[in-house]
Amino acid sequence: TLVLDRAYFVNVFREMLPFVDEQSEHLQKLDSEIGDGDHGINLTIGFREVTKQLDTIKEEAEDISSLFKKVGMILLGKVGGSSGPLYGSFFMKAGKDVTGKEEVTFDEFCGMLINGVEAIQHRGKAEIGDKTMIDAFQRGVDVLKQDTPEDPVEKFTMFVEAMQEGADSTVPLVANKGRAMRLGERAIGHKDPGAESAWMMMEVFLKQLKK
Ligand code: ADP
Ligand code: MG
Ligand code: MG
Repeated sequence: TLVLDRAYFVNVFREMLPFVDEQSEHLQKLDSEIGDGDHGINLTIGFREVTKQLDTIKEEAEDISSLFKKVGMILLGKVGGSSGPLYGSFFMKAGKDVTGKEEVTFDEFCGMLINGVEAIQHRGKAEIGDKTMIDAFQRGVDVLKQDTPEDPVEKFTMFVEAMQEGADSTVPLVANKGRAMRLGERAIGHKDPGAESAWMMMEVFLKQLKK
């Protein structure tokens, strides 16, 4: 079975800023259509700080749990928008069951992501269909909970694809959470920026998994 070590996760967190930089404009545009147009900037601010602190964190974090907790705390502390606390809780809670571990199995990693999504749901109280990042994450979780496929890369690919479909599914929806709620029916026809960044962020994990 596939085992993921601390270096894998450090590499993923190192790739987050280049990813965010690349997608920032796209995410800004989505958020300017149904929000306040700062989603790309919010993520840039957060992951710029993660990158800045990564070498220190890497030394300080003795296990994968504290690595995730530190990244989550940075996002929580640095990102002003609603996505900061939500992604912050995601990473913080993803580390909760792997204390003391310097490597995790692929199944344990799936469990980490499931815990992370639970934290987002706990914090934001969104359900599927509310036009938020939960529309992407929850569909992804359904794949992670399946027994098949056995091959980790295949399964993670399906996970990311399901999340992407979840993000696409937000286009025709009215929002029941977040800023887009105020727009009512005017939100129809626009993709939720958080759902878009969510699947794209998980794709960074996938790319690194393939290496
Ligand atoms: P803000 O809306 O404060 O400017 P961002 O633009 O960074 O923050 O993030 C907006 C995204 O946050 C939305 O597209 C949506 O996916 C997500 N979001 C907002 N509220 C919630 C919530 N209650 N639960 C889950 N996700 C939410
Ligand atoms: Mg915004
Ligand atoms: Mg904002």
